This record gives sequence, structure tokens and C-alpha cells, in this order.
Amino acid sequence: MIAITCEKCRRRFTPPVEAIHLALAASQGKKHAQVLCPHCGKANKVSPERLREAVRFSPPPTPAAPAAEGASTEVGE
Ligand SMILES: [Zn+2]
Repeated sequence: MIAITCEKCRRRFTPPVEAIHLALAASQGKKHAQVLCPHCGKANKVSPERLREAVRFSPPPTPAAPAAEGASTEVGE
């Protein structure tokens, strides 16, 4: 994952994957992506390449997670 040091409050934070994808989408055609600091709300400029690198192994969140399959144990008699 990625750790960003806020330009304003100097605190380190790791933006959630969703926020990174949003920032990347909003940075289309720009030199910098902007990631909001969760502590003070400052928009920090981050290079899109860094963000892309950070989410390379994290696929975009899917609306329906197919993880529950087989989780329900049948107790029918
Ligand atoms: Zn901050």
C-alpha cells in the first residue's frame, strides 16, 4: 500500500483503495492526482504513477462480493 505524508499537518495516512481509484479517475489528463488528508482535509498532490503502483495488486472494489458462496451450512433434515 501507499503512505502519504500530508503537506499541511505532516501526518501520514494511507488512503483507502476506493479513494485511490477515485483520485486516479479524477487525475485523467493531469500531472497530479489529489488525495484528501483524512485528518485536516487538505488535498495532497500525488503522482498518478505512485497511485497506480499502490493499487496494482488491489483490484477495484466490486459491488457484489461473491465470497459468501458455500458459507451457509445446510441444516435441513
Ligand atoms: Zn493533513
